[in-house]
Amino acid sequence: MNNKLLIVGTMAYDAIETPFGKVEKILGGAATYIGLSASQFLVDSAIISVVGEDFDMQHLQLLKEKNLDLSGVEIVKGGETFFWSGRYNEDLNTRTTLETRLNVLENFNPIIPDQFRSPDIVVLGNLSPEVQIKALEQLKRSPTLIILDTMNFWMDHFRSKLDEVIKKVDVISINDEEARQLTGEHSLVKAAQLIHQLGPRYIIIKKGEHGALLFHDNEIFSAPALPLAEVFDPTGAGDSFAGGFAGYLTQTLDFSFNNMKSAVIYGSAMASFTVEKFGTDSLINCSVSSMANRIKAFKELTTFEIEF
Ligand code: AMP
Repeated sequence: MNNKLLIVGTMAYDAIETPFGKVEKILGGAATYIGLSASQFLVDSAIISVVGEDFDMQHLQLLKEKNLDLSGVEIVKGGETFFWSGRYNEDLNTRTTLETRLNVLENFNPIIPDQFRSPDIVVLGNLSPEVQIKALEQLKRSPTLIILDTMNFWMDHFRSKLDEVIKKVDVISINDEEARQLTGEHSLVKAAQLIHQLGPRYIIIKKGEHGALLFHDNEIFSAPALPLAEVFDPTGAGDSFAGGFAGYLTQTLDFSFNNMKSAVIYGSAMASFTVEKFGTDSLINCSVSSMANRIKAFKELTTFEIEF
C-alpha cells in the first residue's frame, strides 16, 4: 500500500489570456493541478473539492485515470463550477485576476471519506480558509505534515480565518508578492522570519521564473527555475509545484532538510512542465521518464566545482 496524500482545493474552469493566446474555458483549479502533479509519484492521493453540474464528466474521468480518488468531490445539482479568469503581462511573471466567481464553492461543506481521514500528508491547496479548517477538523490523527498554499484573494477577504489556518500548518508555500502582502515586509528573508512566527516551520517563497526559496530555522535553500525556451501559460505553476513537493515527500516520508531540498526540486520540475502549454495539457501528458530527465537537467544546471 502506498502512503496517503490528501488534497483539498478548487476544481475550476479558467479563462486565460497570455501574450501567446487566449482560452475561454479550460480545466483548472488548484486541486486539479496539485493532483495531476502528485500523480507522478508512488502515492495514493484523494481530492476534496466541489464542482457544479456543468463540470464535464470527461474531466472527472481523466483525473480518475490518473489514480486520483474523487470520492470526496461533491457534484452540486444545478450548481456552477468555480470560475477564475486572469490575464498575464508581457513578462509572464505578473498577472491580473479579471474575475473570481466562487459559485458552488460559496456553500461548500467538505466531507473527507473515511479511508482518507488518516493521511500521511495533507495539502491545503488554494481555497477558502473556512473550508481548509473544516477539512482539518475531520482528520482522525495528525498527519505528519500539513502544507498550505494560498493567495492574495484569501488574504484580502478572509485574513483572520486564514491566520487560523497558517497557525496550524507545518509548511506554507506562497509567491513573493503574497509573502510581502502577508507580512508588509519587502525583504523576503525578513518576510520568511515573520511568517515563521505565525506558525509554519518551513516557508517556501516562489519567485516565478526566478525559482523558489526554502527557509527552515537558520537554513535557506535556493532553487532555480529551469530556463525554458518557451513559456506559454504560467497558470497552475504554483499548484504544480505544491503537488510535486507534496507527492515526493509523501512517497519518501523523510523530512530532513536535505530531502526537503529534493522535494523543492521535484516541485520545480513539475511546475516547469505546466508552464510549457496552456492549462493542464502538459501535466496530463507528463511521464515518469520525462520527469527524471527534468531532474537531471536541474542537477546539471546547479552543480559546479569551485576551489577556495
Ligand atoms: P496558480 O497559477 O498556481 O496560482 O494557480 C492557478 C489556479 O488556481 C487556476 O486554475 C484557478 O482556477 C485557481 N484559482 C484562482 N484563484 C483562486 C482562488 N481565489 N482560490 C482558489 N483557487 C484559485
